[in-house]
Amino acid sequence: MTTRQRLTIVIAACNEQETLPLIHPRICAELDRLQDVDGHLLYVDDGSTDATWTVMRQLAADPRVATLRLSRNFGKEIALTAGLDFVDDGAVLILDADGQDPPELIPEFVALWRQGYDDVYGTRLVREGDGWLKRVTAALFYRVIGRLSKTPIPADTGDFRLLSPRALQALRRLRERQRFMKGLFGWVGFRRVALPYRRAPRLAGASKFGFWKLWNFALEGITSFSTAPLRVATYLGLLTAASAFGFALFVVAKAALYGDRVAGWPTMMAVILFLGGVQLIALGLIGEYLGRLYMEVKQRPLYLVDSWQPAAVAVSADP
Ligand code: UDP
Ligand code: MG
Repeated sequence: MTTRQRLTIVIAACNEQETLPLIHPRICAELDRLQDVDGHLLYVDDGSTDATWTVMRQLAADPRVATLRLSRNFGKEIALTAGLDFVDDGAVLILDADGQDPPELIPEFVALWRQGYDDVYGTRLVREGDGWLKRVTAALFYRVIGRLSKTPIPADTGDFRLLSPRALQALRRLRERQRFMKGLFGWVGFRRVALPYRRAPRLAGASKFGFWKLWNFALEGITSFSTAPLRVATYLGLLTAASAFGFALFVVAKAALYGDRVAGWPTMMAVILFLGGVQLIALGLIGEYLGRLYMEVKQRPLYLVDSWQPAAVAVSADP
């Protein structure tokens, strides 16, 4: 005798009017096939400027679909957080709206959850549709953050994952404003398992993550989950101080032994510029952390909701 467990598929979407109608039937087909699991869907509109919300409301003709619209674009990490906050209970599965995370894998995620895993995360085997630059920088990013962070952050893992009810409850308690989801999932812990999959190309439209956005995302991840860069600044300072001391000894010894005292300004300039550079880097590093502290201290809400339509609610006129 098992009770039917609830599973909600959470999808954050920003300007996905073309992809949503393509992905929705594929998800529904999988939910229909699931035995003894109550499948639900929650679409989060992250401040789209196209017809995404209208499309979502049309999809909500299906009584399993709930829709949430944020007051503006808050970014994928916050949109997902909002979605997870609005899930009543049960497990969740996070999926991209663009079809890069194939819904056909839902039964495999559920099977692993049923085996007792709390965090089943999809690991990309192939990145179809990603250029070589994105592949190389992604590999580098995972290597750096893997070294610096004490929280386990598996490589090539996105947000495509299933969280058990207790993992979801735990994740909800992390209310930090700088949300680096990959790290937050890792922080929660519990029983984790990887599910390798082939990442498909986008169904339609363009990626919202350009190079600059990804760079800032990487900085976010490193500074949110490690203070190692601050320590690097300390070591750099120690190193320069030690070399300056050694150089001073050398200059004094040379003057005492050979009597040539003036060594000219090029060396002076080089040393001053070098020290200035090191100091600015260290200041910038401290600034990165201080800025994040400032954002955190303001205690603003993570997001604002424009419209929340629970499942099985008739289509109402937009406000
Ligand atoms: N997304 C979002 N808010 C944003 C940017 C993206 O909700 O500000 C959603 C987007 O609609 C998609 C998912 O996040 O469902 C992944 O975005 P995208 O495919 O652009 O990223 P990529 O797969 O290229 O990393
Ligand atoms: Mg994508």
